[in-house]
Amino acid sequence: MALRTFAHMQALHAAHPHTAGITFLKGIEYLEAPGPAYLEPPPALLRDLPGFRLLDPSSSDSSDSFPRDGRVVWGCEYDTWCVNPMVYCAFLLRRFVHRGGRVVQLERELRRPEEAFALPLVGDGTLRAGAGAGAGGGDGNGDGVGEVAAVVNASGTGIVPDPDMTITRGQTCLVAEDCDATVTRQNADGSWTFCVPRGFEGGTIIGGTKELNNWDPKPSVEVRERLLSKFIETYPKILGDKPKLTVIRDIVGRRPTRNGGPRVEGEVVPGAGFVMHAYGLGGRGYELSWGVAEAVVEGVEKHVKGGEERKL
Ligand SMILES: Cc1cc2nc3c(=O)[nH]c(=O)nc-3n(C[C@H](O)[C@H](O)[C@H](O)COP(=O)(O)OP(=O)(O)OC[C@H]3O[C@@H](n4cnc5c(N)ncnc54)[C@H](O)[C@@H]3O)c2cc1C
Repeated sequence: MALRTFAHMQALHAAHPHTAGITFLKGIEYLEAPGPAYLEPPPALLRDLPGFRLLDPSSSDSSDSFPRDGRVVWGCEYDTWCVNPMVYCAFLLRRFVHRGGRVVQLERELRRPEEAFALPLVGDGTLRAGAGAGAGGGDGNGDGVGEVAAVVNASGTGIVPDPDMTITRGQTCLVAEDCDATVTRQNADGSWTFCVPRGFEGGTIIGGTKELNNWDPKPSVEVRERLLSKFIETYPKILGDKPKLTVIRDIVGRRPTRNGGPRVEGEVVPGAGFVMHAYGLGGRGYELSWGVAEAVVEGVEKHVKGGEERKL
């Protein structure tokens, strides 16, 4: 799915270099304690990436050098992409609407995906005025039921109580500086040091923590300082000739993590209809997005072809 997404990102970037919010740049990986899967030969998935090469710290080329603290023992680089989510998501939304998609904003949370079948949609797919306030949708006479051929449950955490779902808290920091590469360092103590340049004047995300099942919404200043200094130690080039990074804000987010991996599968819910689940993408929702989307389309088409043509 990541490779399918890579191909889509390449095509989108080529067709819309100034508006899609996608930047192609160097990806650099540094490992302090590489597991056997990383050691000779490097994993096929990595090896096949465009621009892949192992870094050789004994080379005189400065782009091969490892962080000066001497703890990194394995490194590689490859060509990859990053997005500025604000620009990219707005770009996707414009395309969706331009192609006839409609956006309905509910003033409540759905409790189960089945509720989406019962939303009182009018003929053009928009919500009937005043609808959406009651559980089960509207006036309870089933308006909309039967018009919807499939519901895609792309709710991040799944909506349906799923015992395998949890969250992974992530604290990161947005800084104003650009960076010429997206750098990821896996530290021997299990912590991570990374940067994700947003491009399009969006600054760079410096991260980050990965805390399973921690729901604390507040960022910690000490954690921010640790993340920034560890990143500067790893990739001092981000500073250019500045003495320090310019903090814009701290970010705390929750990655929708699922034990056993994402749930991407169809289910016929008795009394409701076909639900295509696509949730639990953890910290890789963007990286896997187009691969997941292809699987969703395949699942929905397979179902719809088996039944009468109805409104999606
Ligand atoms: C700190 C951090 C770092 C990350 N880094 C990366 C990274 O480097 N690469 C990467 O690919 N990803 C990264 N992610 C993960 C990425 O943000 C998620 O994987 C991605 O947002 C998941 O997308 P999604 O569309 O599946 O779910 P979401 O983005 O969670 O969207 C789900 C939508 O469903 C709606 N919804 C949910 N429940 C209900 C309900 N009951 N009723 C109505 N609406 C509902 C929500 O409001 C939301 O709009 C990171 C996340 C964090 C927090």
